[in-house]
Amino acid sequence: MKTVGVLALQGDFEAHRKAIERAGARAIEVRSAEDLARCDGLILPGGESTTMLKLLDVEGLTEAVRRFGLEKPIYGTCAGAILLAHEVSHPHQASLDLMDIAVERNGYGRQIDSRIAKVPVNDGGEFEAVFIRAPIIRKIGEGVRVLAEYGGDPVWVEQGRHMVTTFHPELTEDPRVHRRFVEKL
Ligand code: GLN
Repeated sequence: MKTVGVLALQGDFEAHRKAIERAGARAIEVRSAEDLARCDGLILPGGESTTMLKLLDVEGLTEAVRRFGLEKPIYGTCAGAILLAHEVSHPHQASLDLMDIAVERNGYGRQIDSRIAKVPVNDGGEFEAVFIRAPIIRKIGEGVRVLAEYGGDPVWVEQGRHMVTTFHPELTEDPRVHRRFVEKL
C-alpha cells in the first residue's frame, strides 16, 4: 500500500488523513525530513500559507519538500496551492515554485467570502466545493491541465505529477480528488 504524507505543521491535516485512507492509501503526518522519507506522495493542506512557509523554514523542511517535489507527487489544497505556485500575489510571497501557476491570495475577498459552491468537473458530473478564503488561480502555464472551473477560473488543476485545488475536498465526502492523487503515486 502506498503512503501519503500530510504536512502537519499547521492547518487541517486530520481531515486529509481520513480522506486519503478512504481513497485507499496509508496516511502519515509529516513533521520532519525523516517522516518525508517514508512517503510516496505529500499533501500540503489548507491553513495560512505565510505561517506554513515560516514553519517549514523553522523546521528546516523547505528544501526537503522542494526536492521531494522534483521526484514525487505533491497535492496542495488552498494554502498548499499557494505554496506550490510559481508566482504569488496579494501580497507577494516566496513559494516552492513546483507548478507553473500564478495565484492571487484571498482572491474571493475576506472571510465572509468563504462559500460552498456546486462546481462542474470537466470530465463530467459536478461536486460540492468548499472555499475558505481561497486563492484564485490567475494564470496557468502550458503544461497545466484544468480539471474543474468555478466562475471562469480554474479551481482544480494538475501538472504532471502535481495537483492543486483552491477548495477543500477533505471537508466533503466526495472522494474523487483524493482518489485522483492516489492514482499518481
Ligand atoms: N487565505 C489563506 C492564505 O492565503 C489560505 C486559506 C486556506 O488555506 N483555506 O494562505
